[in-house]
Amino acid sequence: MRGSGRSRRGAWVGALALAWMLFSVPSTFAAGPVFERAPWFEAFKARADDVALYRFLYAMPKGGDLHHHLSGGAFPEWYWDLALAGEGQGYRYLTKVRINDCGYGTDEFSGQPYLLYFHTISEHRWKGLDSCRQGEYEPLEALTPAQKQAWHDALVLDQPHEGRGEFFEAHWARMDDLLANPALVAELVALNLKHFAAEGVRYLEAQVPLFSLATPEGKPLPPEAGLAAIRTRLRQPDLATLPITFRMQLSVLRFLPNAENALARAYALAAREPDIVAVNFVGREDNDKGYPLRFLAPLRALRREHGALPLSIHAGEVDEPNRHVRDTLLLGAQRIGHGVNLIHDPDTLLALRGGDTLVEINLISNLLLNYVDRYEDHPFPEYLRFGIPVALSTDDRGMWDSTMTDEFFVAVKHFDLSFEEVVALSRASLSHSFLPEAEKARLLADYDDALASFVARFQSGGLGAAAPDAHPPYRGFICRRYGLCPPESAP
Ligand SMILES: [Zn+2]
Repeated sequence: MRGSGRSRRGAWVGALALAWMLFSVPSTFAAGPVFERAPWFEAFKARADDVALYRFLYAMPKGGDLHHHLSGGAFPEWYWDLALAGEGQGYRYLTKVRINDCGYGTDEFSGQPYLLYFHTISEHRWKGLDSCRQGEYEPLEALTPAQKQAWHDALVLDQPHEGRGEFFEAHWARMDDLLANPALVAELVALNLKHFAAEGVRYLEAQVPLFSLATPEGKPLPPEAGLAAIRTRLRQPDLATLPITFRMQLSVLRFLPNAENALARAYALAAREPDIVAVNFVGREDNDKGYPLRFLAPLRALRREHGALPLSIHAGEVDEPNRHVRDTLLLGAQRIGHGVNLIHDPDTLLALRGGDTLVEINLISNLLLNYVDRYEDHPFPEYLRFGIPVALSTDDRGMWDSTMTDEFFVAVKHFDLSFEEVVALSRASLSHSFLPEAEKARLLADYDDALASFVARFQSGGLGAAAPDAHPPYRGFICRRYGLCPPESAP
């Protein structure tokens, strides 16, 4: 479109066009769909190959990730390095590398299934096993290169036969014990913030595991131990100077028998800790034990006792057309996680249109967990263009081996987003964050400034000017599906 030798006058024209374009983007989330399509972005898409589009989207300033599970958002190599580093705090881990047929009557349906390769457990738990079962495990540091590779692969959905079952029933069990170490949890926060900041994400609201902490000897630790570790880590200079803001959510596994007690504990903690901004419900929705209205009376009682608390709740991440999203709104949710089956509930669609409730869209998650068979079936573009506030988020990106840039790439490529729509997604993610209003306004202003500068650079000098140092870390998802791979590992 425009070469690198663009004139000063041209730059001013570009800046004015940008000002018009930004002004035309709805500054509030209730303004409905965006009808404009900036010609410069349409021209760029028409001539850009996937590499150029990806590089643009990687360098582009982005809003926030509002739907992020800290435990599922961590890449296997982070877990590996941090598990080994845990020895410094007294935590040692072993992983199951063989099955010795140690007797009948094994348990396959608990959080500790017997027939599960690369089930990683603490040394404390290992010492409680009989000698036959102890022989099934090896210390992480003793794994052969092939075993180490398989350990990494076991935490990623990278095979055609893997899907929802592997994710819900195997992945979490494999790493549960790792998350007992408060220092490891704090370091997962640090790594996420650094990687998100590198791709221009400006806010992270992560669901953090604070209720399963324990000493190396297996003695339970209070959630405050995790909070202290995270807060201490956030004050270190490498994080304190990053251009990204962090807040926490607490999640409750919705189908467990004691979920009401867990909810009460989480709600009370969030109500007294300002950096914990919301409570969420997680767990597969096709398990009826966790149906939304189970929590109606408990949440009403908690509001009476502690006051209102923001709620972002998974709902509509299910195949069956049902009223889960509507019922979750009745619980008091300000944000809905996924909302895939909302498309089958016209009354609730109409209720959300032009409103203040945002749906957190997780495109890659929904595909890999088979809630849609192909992106063309995803309701996201209909929500966006029907006027329901939506934002892109990463969910458990460590297990998809993906990034926030990947979500934008999928959205632009498959749904032909206009630049106005791309911007509206980022602005909605900041507008619907659970930050105090003043901080939200500051983040939005910072984002607008950074975006204006990025677009002006792009319009004056193309990708070379807008993204001179952009070296996207192509990860597994984008490499496998789109052939965008690091040079050394082309498919
Ligand atoms: Zn989720």
